[in-house]
Amino acid sequence: MNPKHVSDLRALVGDPSRVIVNPQIVEQLSRDFYWYSPVLRRQLDGKLGEVVLQPLDAIEIQKILRYCYANDLPVTARGAGTGNYGQAVPLQGGVVLDLSRVDRIESITSEGVAVCQPGVRLGALESEACRVGWELRCYPSTIIKASVGGFLGGGSGGIGSVKNGNLRDFQTVRALEVVTMEPEPRVVLHEGEKVHDILHAWGTNGIITRIWLALAPAVNWSQCVVGFGTFSAAFDFSEKIATDPVWDKRLVTVFEWPIPSFFTPILQYAPEGKTLIFFMIASSQLAGLEGAAREAGGVVTQSGVYPGLNARPLLSDYTWNHTTLWAMRTDKAYTYLQCGFNPDTARDQMRRLRERFGTEILFHMEFMKNGDGRVIPGAIPLVYYTTEERLNEMIDFCREIGVFVANPHVNNVEGGGRYRADNVQLLAKQRYDPKGLLNPGKMITFHAEAATGATRK
Ligand code: FAD
Repeated sequence: MNPKHVSDLRALVGDPSRVIVNPQIVEQLSRDFYWYSPVLRRQLDGKLGEVVLQPLDAIEIQKILRYCYANDLPVTARGAGTGNYGQAVPLQGGVVLDLSRVDRIESITSEGVAVCQPGVRLGALESEACRVGWELRCYPSTIIKASVGGFLGGGSGGIGSVKNGNLRDFQTVRALEVVTMEPEPRVVLHEGEKVHDILHAWGTNGIITRIWLALAPAVNWSQCVVGFGTFSAAFDFSEKIATDPVWDKRLVTVFEWPIPSFFTPILQYAPEGKTLIFFMIASSQLAGLEGAAREAGGVVTQSGVYPGLNARPLLSDYTWNHTTLWAMRTDKAYTYLQCGFNPDTARDQMRRLRERFGTEILFHMEFMKNGDGRVIPGAIPLVYYTTEERLNEMIDFCREIGVFVANPHVNNVEGGGRYRADNVQLLAKQRYDPKGLLNPGKMITFHAEAATGATRK
């Protein structure tokens, strides 16, 4: 980057400590968890921003974007960098816009809507919400580190999704404000259905600066681990609990053996050879759940009241995409897929996958409610990676037998499987980022010349 840009940006921000050019820090803040994918690792290693800016509010963000627009500088938004498709990795250098200091919780309304800035950590929001009788409807297993803005920009769901659906369901995101990348950047409010223009667009069509997030009434939760001798018995039991609305649950996760053997800090709860189910269940139903588990042939290996994120063990630390992390610590060859099984034919789908790929695929199921209100067996199966061809063969086969795959081995919004068929994210990009400077290269259907504004110099 032309050194003049750095000195101009320093003058603009007014606080040199928030304009970072130190190569180690720039490198650190240019990376996310893309290395979960051997395919992305090859594509993204060495991709870096050139300067990191740490704004404090929307006004400063407007000033920065005005300058970057005028000077054709790419801008990649960053929350906490826990995304795992290289969403926050700048492909064309330029500015990394680190939003971690735009981190104020403005209010939690009496109707249970949190109003906050994007850099607020989800864990901080959960703690504050619990203090006043509310909790997050759903959160990623990275809750302690991940930001609200990054979850909206790149995440989808997690703990709580079995009860409340994913982030994009049931009007969980009530509204958000974005700053546009135009000659005069505007702050635009998106409410209701309009939030979908921006959600999961990887920061390619606006910088989210304010969020209205609906919460759920807080529940006194407990955690429980149950082991079963076979995957099939465990799956039957987990499905029964997950789909029966009588049970008030926040997490229903199934790990076939040997996945539990990867959880080194909690091996005392993982008897050799057993499939484990991790539950978060209303404390008032814990004894009932334990009884039902024993009746179904399960062994309860751990249970207790969940005191919050300081729980030890914190079972959520082993679920959702944390499972992949534990597997990779054991053997670097492991990677993963993100799947949705058909609730009516899941057993057959899994049988066919096992027949075709053996233990190259290991079943890790995460039950979640879909947008129609049906609880389905989502999954983040582990994949023992050998070649890209073999991985693609597995993805193709999944799709052939009706298993939905959101491919985590591609580095663009469209390829990831969460792109909206109505193109609203692309249409918003054409309006708000006509030069294509926001996280360039990540929305591949966008072409600057097709947008209404000016192209780059
Ligand atoms: P970042 O990685 O910093 O950013 C994510 C995307 O959003 C990037 O494209 C970035 O440019 C964009 N962005 C960031 N801030 C803004 C903003 N203010 N405006 C516009 N765009 C913005 N995801 C789940 O959904 N569920 C899970 O359970 C889950 N578990 C995970 C477990 C592990 C171990 C890991 C490594 C990842 C997991 N993820 C999961 C992925 C990731 O944690 C979530 O997507 C998380 O919400 C990202 O938050 P972040 O603050 O780190 O975002």
